[in-house]
Amino acid sequence: MQWLNLGLFLIEAVVYFSVMTAFLHFRRPLGLGVFLAALGVMHFMETYLAAVFYVQLPFGTVSPGSSVFFAGKLMMILMLYIKEDAATVRQPIYGLFLGNLLTVGIAQILQLHAAVMLPGGRAADMGFLDEMGWLMVWGTTILYIDAIAIILIYERLGRFIENIVVRFAISGAIILTFDQIGFFSVLHILLGVPLPVFFGGWYAKLFAVLIYSTLFAVYLKIDQNDRWSASSRQIKDIFHDLTFRERYQALLAKAGVDGLTGVLDRGRYEVDGPELVRKSLAMRQSISMVIVDADHFKDVNDRFGHQRGDAVLKDLAACLSKSARSSDHLSRFGGEEFVLLLSETDHEKALEVAERLRQDIAAFVSRPDGTALTVSVGVATGPDDGRTLDLLLSRADERLYQAKNNGRDRVHGRYGKV
Ligand code: GH3
Ligand code: MG
Ligand code: MG
Repeated sequence: MQWLNLGLFLIEAVVYFSVMTAFLHFRRPLGLGVFLAALGVMHFMETYLAAVFYVQLPFGTVSPGSSVFFAGKLMMILMLYIKEDAATVRQPIYGLFLGNLLTVGIAQILQLHAAVMLPGGRAADMGFLDEMGWLMVWGTTILYIDAIAIILIYERLGRFIENIVVRFAISGAIILTFDQIGFFSVLHILLGVPLPVFFGGWYAKLFAVLIYSTLFAVYLKIDQNDRWSASSRQIKDIFHDLTFRERYQALLAKAGVDGLTGVLDRGRYEVDGPELVRKSLAMRQSISMVIVDADHFKDVNDRFGHQRGDAVLKDLAACLSKSARSSDHLSRFGGEEFVLLLSETDHEKALEVAERLRQDIAAFVSRPDGTALTVSVGVATGPDDGRTLDLLLSRADERLYQAKNNGRDRVHGRYGKV
């Protein structure tokens, strides 16, 4: 009987691994969603099985749910990482985590129903659902840690071991050992599950890792042409990718530089701008906004082509950053519009700065035919013109359009033309 069970265990592992690996392998034509959805569906079944379905194997009582499928899922997550990258693999990690919390939350609401009795006296076992719910929260939390840890261990092992099958096997064995300790201790405390189940489950998971690593080696042999490149990234960076922290940091550091002109970009204006305004006003200081728009720029493109136009924009940006003070915040707001945020600068002073910029541009920036490039400029100052970045922008923009309407090549402030 035990040997029949072992044979079935082996078949389950082979079927699971082969089908999932096929989904992963053909992720380009199929779409990665097929692999990910299959992973999620299997996750539900395995949690259910781990709670109620146990069989006798030569090395103890084990649940195929936890040893074949849970172990398999972790190996799949690791394979997805090896094939793709941290930014991709964190999606199922977070999806499984949040999806489980949602399941448990919804189960709480479901239990409030007064359910109808079905023929044959069948009814949902709500107590079971509840118990499984908490097990799921715990299982999911460990899964989240497992999934991140298995990738980090795999990467760290890369320093000492080149063979990726060996790394795959060792990281799997370490993580599933950790997992078994974590999951079992709760089963033991909550449900009084006896100690031999710990060892049975542990051996079964290690056995599963052995099967998966062998299959993985076979897959590698078949899949010669796909790239299985070793990553040379820092563990810290991978960790940040996995936990989404890199996105937050990217927002702060925000590559943030405009590709064409090298000044700060619109994203950076939106991140830094409100903070600069808030700080200035909190210290009861003025802050000024200067918005600069090139005159008849479309004309430059039309006559000389977009590329020559781009070159003029570069010159314009270079002239602006040269004339600006180092404490000024200069960004490219749109096509040929630039915004300067001047901290600790009142309206008078800002108009002076703006006028100097206008003169510098007219003197040093020229169009492809040698004629001077001119700009129109609008200036607004907080707190008098507004206490938020958006209000300052709309005031400055209004004045810019007055400057355009009054003949261009001029600076407009609160009291009209300078
Ligand atoms: P105005 O004096 O009224 O500002 O006239 P304008 O032609 O400059 O009009 P507007 O500011 O509305 O148009 C901006 C033009 O700038 C439109 C587009 O042809 C050009 N432009 C925007 N972005 C780029 C860019 O990245 N490169 C180049 N070469 N041209 C751009
Ligand atoms: Mg313009
Ligand atoms: Mg414009």
